[in-house]
Amino acid sequence: MKFPSVNISACANLANQLSSVQRIMCGYCGRPTLAMGERWVCSHCELAISGTALSIILGDRDRVAALHKVNEYMDANDYQNAQVEYDKIVARYATPELLYNSGLIYLQYSNFQIESIRYDRRGFMEENAKYRESGSALDSRAKLMFNRAYSTCQKIIGSATGANDFAAFTWFMSAVKLGRFRNAGQIREILKGYNSTHMANYAEMVLDAELGKYAETAAHALELLKRDNFSANALYYLSWALFKTGRERDSLHLITALGKQLQSNNIIALTNEIQGAIRV
Ligand SMILES: [Zn+2]
Repeated sequence: MKFPSVNISACANLANQLSSVQRIMCGYCGRPTLAMGERWVCSHCELAISGTALSIILGDRDRVAALHKVNEYMDANDYQNAQVEYDKIVARYATPELLYNSGLIYLQYSNFQIESIRYDRRGFMEENAKYRESGSALDSRAKLMFNRAYSTCQKIIGSATGANDFAAFTWFMSAVKLGRFRNAGQIREILKGYNSTHMANYAEMVLDAELGKYAETAAHALELLKRDNFSANALYYLSWALFKTGRERDSLHLITALGKQLQSNNIIALTNEIQGAIRV
C-alpha cells in the first residue's frame, strides 16, 4: 500500500482544536482523558471508554481517591506504593480493564528498573544485576496481569449475556500487550461484528502499527480523524507512521502540536525519539 497523502498543517490544526475538548478522569488509569463524544479511547491507558459508564465509575468517591493516590505515587516514581494502592482497587472490582491497567503499571515499573541500569557503575555492577532481575520479574508480573485480563474478556465474550464491544476491545488490547498478534487479528474481526466502526478502525490502526505496516496505520489514523475526533491517539499513531517512514520533521511538527494539548508517556517518548533522530 502507498503511504496516503497527509496535510500536516490541517492535522496540526486538529491537535490545536483539542484545547476545547473536556478533560475527564479515566476511571481505569486515573489520568485526565479527552472526552470525545459518548465513546472514545483513553489517551493514556488506551482502553475504550463509554461516557455513561464513566460517570457511574466516577460517582464512586473511594475509587476516584484511590486512583488519585496511584498517580501521585507514579509521578514520584514510587511504583511500589502505586501498585499496592492499585491492587486494592483490583481486589475490589477485578474487571478486565483494571487487570489490564495493573499490567501497565508493572510494565512501567519494569521499564523504570531497567532504565536504572548504569554502565558507569564500575565497582558496583552487582547493583545493575539487581535492577535487571527485578525488571524482568516485574515484566513477568505485567504479563500475568495482561493474561488475566485476556482470559476474563474471553469468558465475557463467550458468555450468552454480557458480551459487548468494550470487552472485545479490552480483549484486543490485552492480546497486543502480550504480543499475541495472530489472536489480536482474530479479535479485531470479532470487533468488526459489533458494528462499532470506530473501535474496529482503531484496533486495525494499533495492529498495523505493531506489525510495521505504516502506510496502513496512517490510513486508519486519517480515517478516524476524518469522521470525528474519536481519539486524540490517532494523531499519535499518524506521527509514529510518519516518523517510521523517514518524515521526521513532519512527525515532530505533529507530535509537538499534540504534546501541547496532552502530556502522556507515549507522546513524550516519541517526541524525544524524533528529536534524537533529527540530531544524529
Ligand atoms: Zn485511561
